[in-house]
Amino acid sequence: MENIACALCGNKDSAHFLSTKNNFNLVKCNGCGLVFMNPRPPKEEQIDYYEGQDLSYVEEKKDIISQKSFKKINAWINNSILELFYGYSHLAKSSFMIKIIKYIFITPFFIRNVITGKDIYSIAFKGEGKMLDIGCGKGRNVPKYKNIGWKISGIEPSKAVAFKTSHDMGIEVICGDFETIDLSKKSFDAVLMIDVLEHLHNPLESLKKVSSLLKTNGVAIVRLPNIDSLEFRLLKNDWRFIDAPNHLYHFSPQTLKKLLKESGFKIRKFKFDFRDISGLNRYFYKIGFNEKFINSNKFVRKILKVLNFFIGVFGQGSIMVVHAVKI
Ligand SMILES: [Zn+2]
Repeated sequence: MENIACALCGNKDSAHFLSTKNNFNLVKCNGCGLVFMNPRPPKEEQIDYYEGQDLSYVEEKKDIISQKSFKKINAWINNSILELFYGYSHLAKSSFMIKIIKYIFITPFFIRNVITGKDIYSIAFKGEGKMLDIGCGKGRNVPKYKNIGWKISGIEPSKAVAFKTSHDMGIEVICGDFETIDLSKKSFDAVLMIDVLEHLHNPLESLKKVSSLLKTNGVAIVRLPNIDSLEFRLLKNDWRFIDAPNHLYHFSPQTLKKLLKESGFKIRKFKFDFRDISGLNRYFYKIGFNEKFINSNKFVRKILKVLNFFIGVFGQGSIMVVHAVKI
């Protein structure tokens, strides 16, 4: 185990925050409020841990932004939104009149996406479209972007997962640790860090590295759990994102914004992803609701999603998503 100072402000002064069920210690920095594991396992042990886990850790995750489940009409609406509002002119060759008709029909869906926050994953397409998916896992984010013209490569610490994803998705997957791997600077138009930053040993250095890999005005989509969420306050040690020793850092909107600013990013959009209702499910189960009823009833799930949406409106959502631009 190693003892560390705050990775965000360098402060060595911290207060006890939470003891996890498996006896890891989380502290809160007295300087900036960042929550992190201290002491923590050194990096070599962490890499071994991922290798030992093989495929199981990626299979548990729910595929929430895959295009597979979309019906054809939804795919057409999504492609039309990308064509009309995000510069994906290669997806359709519409005449001027068809475009006008499309604008009339598609604009309400575009507005819906902006209101619900779904638009945060949409990246404007400007030519080459080179994307790096850091911690790509099984490649659950790959089809969504590959199918609309992005040239994606991935980085994945587990050899078995890297090999399988490269084979299944038909993309290059570099097996290695993002924090130490050597990549050419200013070579990407976009970087995905979906559920990754909380696992890394040095998030500030990692985001600075992401910034150096991006071309100017390149986009980083960063998604991670919010320790300052209602779900955490309700569930504490039962909150699934505590996940020690996998999750070394726990950011809040405040500490995430500070981190991005110090890494050379400007935040264009900041939203809460409300589609994952597993935390609310767990809470209602804990207070006595029947788990089967919550999970199997479509109407209940819809209500929980609406509730989750409003929790996000009040800044209390459990999953933060940032669309940041390199400056
Ligand atoms: Zn700090």
